[in-house]
Amino acid sequence: MFNNFQKLPEGKLRNDIMDLSTKLNINVGDVYCVDGSKRSQNANAYVYGFGKEKRIVVYDSLLEQLNDDEILAILAHELGHYKKNHGSLSILLQIVTMGIYLFSLSQTIYSISFYKSFGFAEQNIGVGLCLFSYLYQPFGSAINVISNVVQRAFEYQCDKYSLELGYDIEQALILMHVNNVYNIIVDKHYSRYYNSHPSLMERLEKIEETRTKKEFIQQRIKQD
Ligand SMILES: [Zn+2]
Repeated sequence: MFNNFQKLPEGKLRNDIMDLSTKLNINVGDVYCVDGSKRSQNANAYVYGFGKEKRIVVYDSLLEQLNDDEILAILAHELGHYKKNHGSLSILLQIVTMGIYLFSLSQTIYSISFYKSFGFAEQNIGVGLCLFSYLYQPFGSAINVISNVVQRAFEYQCDKYSLELGYDIEQALILMHVNNVYNIIVDKHYSRYYNSHPSLMERLEKIEETRTKKEFIQQRIKQD
């Protein structure tokens, strides 16, 4: 039922992870491995801890599927989320979304004019909830799309973060997607509407864009 956490054994990978954390000014107490692959095929890693000392958790599937450099590329992406406070910003976004929902709900189901506009003479909370759920659907979809835009921007930012730290994030992402049989090619409009994470092709395109821009700037600096 519960995941089994074990300390990552001493060795090159653990040392490299600790060095990367130090380089990024993240005080990491220890690195753990979790047997997430028993319940989920999603290979990943995350940072957690509320105090000064953080912990890095790497899924065993990530360790099995990728080599050390590729694991570090994914970790650099995850540490990017931590450095850029994406976790807190996502929670804030959810609170705002929930606030909008509850405010709209309170403004409608307790309003007699709301019921009258639909031909009901009296206030009935059951009817109000049904009507509200229909009315809120388009707004809910719009809010969902906005939330996806934000979450997807976070993903692009962290791919760029890993790339700028010198890691081959492309190779790591390709292997993760192939090994976990993720959908690799998704229509971009469908992806933007439904998915909080960009598809592999969208991510690779963005990484290529970043790399081209970087090379262009470097060439201009050399010419000047
Ligand atoms: Zn991410």
